Amino acid sequence: MKVGFVGLGIMGKPMSRNLMKAGHQLVVYDIVQSAVDEIVAAGAARGASAADAAARSEVTITMLPDGPEVEAAVTGPAGVLEGASAGSIVVDMSSISPLAAQGVAAACAAKGVEFLDAPVSGGEPKAIDGTLAIMVGGKQEVFDRVLPLFQCMGSSATLTGPVGAGNVTKLANQIMVAINIAGVSEALVLAAKAGLDPEVVFNAVKGGLAGSTVLNAKAPMIIGRNFKPGFRIRLHQKDLRNALLAAESMKVSLPFTSLAQQVLIALMNNGRGDLDHSAIATFIEDMAKTEVRK
Ligand code: NAD
Repeated sequence: MKVGFVGLGIMGKPMSRNLMKAGHQLVVYDIVQSAVDEIVAAGAARGASAADAAARSEVTITMLPDGPEVEAAVTGPAGVLEGASAGSIVVDMSSISPLAAQGVAAACAAKGVEFLDAPVSGGEPKAIDGTLAIMVGGKQEVFDRVLPLFQCMGSSATLTGPVGAGNVTKLANQIMVAINIAGVSEALVLAAKAGLDPEVVFNAVKGGLAGSTVLNAKAPMIIGRNFKPGFRIRLHQKDLRNALLAAESMKVSLPFTSLAQQVLIALMNNGRGDLDHSAIATFIEDMAKTEVRK
């Protein structure tokens, strides 16, 4: 397929590489030239703008930080909708608020362009491996047309409901991940303060009920003092903000999500917003004056 790809950050780069590996023809665009240069060197065509990338494609994928960037890149000047032809498809794979996704879908529909919201889980390692979990909102027939592309980037793609449902599912995912990392952090700080080797504790518990993908991915990073992102604190703060806004609109109370959100805001104020979200541990460490180290 001819695929436009807009947004070549931590996730967009490996996802676009996997599409090319499977034989799809890509036209790529990002506001950062060096990111475009890198993917053009790997075989993609250079888009002059998001509109240009869309004009030369049947499906245009966006992988951008948040709703305002997606709105700008799709509905703004020189955006996707200035180039996309009727009958083509826009697939936003960013994690944005479900309401923002529905707004962008309406703008697409007004031009006869189909839309799916299809956020992902798995982070950079699974983006590189092509094993992301993809959560999709939209029409079944549009999902079926895009499925071959999803299969190049992910090991699962699930249609969870109409447009917006992909992002509701992703917010649910982000709540589980944030609170799990917070729990792992408190547990490892307690063990370290008690004088135990955190790696021994990690190995002792990982096969039991406390074991999780989050524990396996993040405990080694915390113990190894490796907070290179991965998934940035500021992006997780954005996701929990979107979750709390959606929850408020539905009168749902999310006490633990609110608490995790306060921790993420404090970490951003401490200059840690661009660290991996495993650095939630540093907030607990600061309060206990104890580092989790081998
Ligand atoms: P990133 O900040 O590394 O990349 C975003 C890219 O978008 C950058 O290259 C930036 O230059 C580009 N950009 C911003 N505005 C633009 C515009 N108007 N037009 C064109 N390009 C523009 O972010 P990321 O980590 O790749 O995350 C992207 C999305 O995926 C986010 O919504 C994030 O929440 C989600 N996500 C990330 C991870 C992860 O582990 N990194 C995991 C799952 C989901």
